[in-house]
Amino acid sequence: MFLGRLSNLFKLLVIMGMAALYLSACAKKEEPCNCGAKNQCASYMTATDTSQALNLVIDETFSTDYQNKILQAVSEWNNYGATNKGRKLFLPRIGAINPATIPELDKCSFSGERNSVFIISDEAAQKWAALKLGANIPGVTIRCSTDGELDRQIIMLNPKILSPEYVVRVTIHELGHSIGLNHSCAEPEDVASDYLACAGLGKEHSYRQAVMFPRIEQNLWTEDALVDRESLQFNDKERAACILR
Ligand SMILES: [Zn+2]
Repeated sequence: MFLGRLSNLFKLLVIMGMAALYLSACAKKEEPCNCGAKNQCASYMTATDTSQALNLVIDETFSTDYQNKILQAVSEWNNYGATNKGRKLFLPRIGAINPATIPELDKCSFSGERNSVFIISDEAAQKWAALKLGANIPGVTIRCSTDGELDRQIIMLNPKILSPEYVVRVTIHELGHSIGLNHSCAEPEDVASDYLACAGLGKEHSYRQAVMFPRIEQNLWTEDALVDRESLQFNDKERAACILR
């Protein structure tokens, strides 16, 4: 209801909300240095078993508009999979979400399956706060591992924060996390030695144009060429090729 220009501008300046959570402090890394750029060696998360398509359940409480936009994002990844692996990466369906599959007080306090991803709608500020997620985060992917193996994961979107114009790009980003891609470059708080920092990347840099760039930055710098983050970019495709089975 307050999606006026000022509010959107505010969000663009403030939200950098697409977060991936590492819930396993010593998560096993892939061996990406055999593939892709050396300065993205650390830009992968606990591996997802992508040897078969992941079941993707989209919360039926999303509006039809949101559902369609989420499905558009899914199609981007599925088209990529069809072209590069000869099959879809996700098998989406709209459905009811079992409350047991939703985290409550602790990020990993939900049940799930290795082969499934749920995309849930949650507008309860107190829930996000309880999970220690910032109030301005439009979407998050929570991934839980045991002994370095991914057990279960869930994507939460907050339609109160996530305005319709960003649903496709945020969803495509979170789905990237769900297959094991971390951000294309590192935010100040997660700089690893072989993980290039986002700061200082020129606007033409492929890491900055990637859907896995950690920020919704369109218009943030008015001199930016607008990047269409509603479709996978070169760097996303290059890194995905390194991890897809
Ligand atoms: Zn992210």
